[in-house]
Amino acid sequence: MPLLKVDRLKTHFFVGSPFRRQKTVIRAVDGVSFELERGETLALVGESGCGKTTAARSVLRLEEPTAGSAVFDLDGELVSIFDLDKESLRRWRRKAQMAFQDPFGSLNPRMNVADIVTEGLRIHRLCRPSAKWERAAELLESVGMDARHAALYPHEFSGGQRQRIGIARALALEPDLIAADEPVSALDVSAQAQVVNLMQDLQERMGLSYLFISHDLSVVRHIADRVAVMYLGKIVETGPKAELYENPVHPYTKALLSAVPSLDPSAGRSVLRLSGDAPSPANPPSGCAFHPRCPMAEASCANAPQTLVNIGGGRAVACHLVTGSEERSHSPRKETK
Ligand code: SF4
Repeated sequence: MPLLKVDRLKTHFFVGSPFRRQKTVIRAVDGVSFELERGETLALVGESGCGKTTAARSVLRLEEPTAGSAVFDLDGELVSIFDLDKESLRRWRRKAQMAFQDPFGSLNPRMNVADIVTEGLRIHRLCRPSAKWERAAELLESVGMDARHAALYPHEFSGGQRQRIGIARALALEPDLIAADEPVSALDVSAQAQVVNLMQDLQERMGLSYLFISHDLSVVRHIADRVAVMYLGKIVETGPKAELYENPVHPYTKALLSAVPSLDPSAGRSVLRLSGDAPSPANPPSGCAFHPRCPMAEASCANAPQTLVNIGGGRAVACHLVTGSEERSHSPRKETK
């Protein structure tokens, strides 16, 4: 049994004017299914607005899902996350934590670091006030910081250090799962590398599972075991990282990967350009939602909605041009840089 199994998750938002009866439905997440094993990192990737953050927040019950289910292995007991009563929800929250994108905005500037990292312990009554400094020192040392930092305030740290404090706070309750929402996107490249290495080191030591949300496929390449590519609220391709990076099959995945900068200037790169912006989830295109931007679209793509189909090797793709593990020949519009 995986640590987490999410099935057909939908999170829709209903927005509108108080003067109009009809509301607009924003289909932020629209039928997403995935599994996460213990000690594994699953990256949810895609452009801004594709629903990856909402999917993670829904799983952590920070957004109210509209439909679907999520089952979590809570110390050997399988619990349905969306049906938990108050007491079970409290117990489960200790096992599933979130690391946020903005390492400054997510830390209370009025609290010192000791109070920040031990806040969860205090809420769950797992730490006596007299033990606060000792526990804070342990947590800070576990993320490569000095115990003396416990008395300082968030503004006294660099972005990378603040993100480490955010991770220390997430670790305080000894979770099994951390959903990390763009945890390094606000950092410079060297701080990114340090935080990614820290997360991998903690995963090895503590057996953590990560739901890693990112639009940066270079970072995902370093940390993920498996990748799920999202477009307009749905997963369009998923599979083990190595295979997906080596041989992407969905046109959207191909376009995303072709835009990743290469460190090898001699490697000729073909960039698959997408036209236009992603459509609004309030008004998704008919059929395959990617068809207005897809360089391989056919007339039929506008008619038939696409569902994920297993193509072997732990991979699944939502594109009718992909059959089995083979692709039909396409003639994509390519430009060579
Ligand atoms: Fe492109 Fe058609 Fe495949 Fe959608 S179904 S990804 S539009 S080729």
